[in-house]
Amino acid sequence: MHTDYMVRATALDGRVRAFALHATGVVSELQRRHDTHPAVTAALGRTAMGALLLAAASLKEDDQVLTVEVRGGGPAGRLLATANARGQVRALAGNPHVHAPSRDGKLNVAGVVGTEGYLAVTRDLGMRETYRGMVEMRSGEIGEDLAYYLAKSEQTPSGVGMGVFVLPDLSVEAAGGYLFQLLPGVPDDEIAAIEERVRSLPHPTELVRLGVTPEDLLHRLFAGEVEITDSYPVAFHCPCTRERFEAGIASLGATEIERIIEEEQAPYTEVVCHFCNQAYHFSPDQMRGILDAAR
Ligand code: ZN
Repeated sequence: MHTDYMVRATALDGRVRAFALHATGVVSELQRRHDTHPAVTAALGRTAMGALLLAAASLKEDDQVLTVEVRGGGPAGRLLATANARGQVRALAGNPHVHAPSRDGKLNVAGVVGTEGYLAVTRDLGMRETYRGMVEMRSGEIGEDLAYYLAKSEQTPSGVGMGVFVLPDLSVEAAGGYLFQLLPGVPDDEIAAIEERVRSLPHPTELVRLGVTPEDLLHRLFAGEVEITDSYPVAFHCPCTRERFEAGIASLGATEIERIIEEEQAPYTEVVCHFCNQAYHFSPDQMRGILDAAR
């Protein structure tokens, strides 16, 4: 078992908000559930960690939900991740089984994500209050694209670094990352010093592989001037239930349900959740029960 967790922190006397996480277990579970190939594993893992980091940074209440959608036009298709501020996340990739040639011995994330589309962030704050922001893709590496989103859409100068390391047997050895936002009042020389440290630090993938904790990562980024304010576990979680799929079948209407019952070849009707690949089976009797209730 991996110990996945998020830390929230402030730095430089409260003029920087910072977040960092380890998510090796989360990305491993995404890889297993969706059977992703390595570059897609990295792309999906970064999207999921990005959703967790943004949720930590921008959601106030436990029942609020944040979704990151990446449509870069590349072979992986649409990447989608939904997270909340309790550290729960689920994610899916349009085409899990695609490759792109490695670049400098590294997984070619931009090669499967693409650079010709957009990245959208939707915050569902409850009570039908939803905010959606969108930017054009820049790098296809997702971390830089998220930083661009925060800079442009939310007018907050930000840094985002995320990495996933995949072993030759396709399993995930390490995954982690960070996000920071500069609030008004950070002097230019401090900004330059932060940029220099971001450049000189090893890639987030390397830091996680080396066993650097989220706390240590933030201390390195901000030269020790960090105050950790909070930490909480992060985990894969899909809120799908059999009842929700029953309601989904019922919403198809009586005619369509009758057609499915008549045409079904298998001994049961199978419905699969795209987010977690859990299959739900409904026998003909159960389908007729839903039909009776839907009439
Ligand atoms: Zn599910």
